[in-house]
Amino acid sequence: MVERICEAIHHVIGCNGRGETEDHIVPRCVGKILGWQEDKINSVENIRPLSGACHALADSNTRRIYYDLTVRLKKGEKVSEEEIINLFRRVKFIVD
Ligand SMILES: [Zn+2]
Repeated sequence: MVERICEAIHHVIGCNGRGETEDHIVPRCVGKILGWQEDKINSVENIRPLSGACHALADSNTRRIYYDLTVRLKKGEKVSEEEIINLFRRVKFIVD
């Protein structure tokens, strides 16, 4: 099996560099909002390998991004699919 590397944009201190877990870039719940089918949610473009440590940070930031996004959508704000993908691709690795 090919060893995969952690593809986080910024690595947390505990990252071991190994892509030992699979991260959905756009989470399933958001993919559904966008009208994506399972095959798109689980496509290689939407999955990246992350170390356990980087994945833990990504998951906690995902909850915050998801909350902010749903607030904007409930206000009736138009948010493009491109912006949403970018939000989850980058902002997930920002440490407050
Ligand atoms: Zn990492």
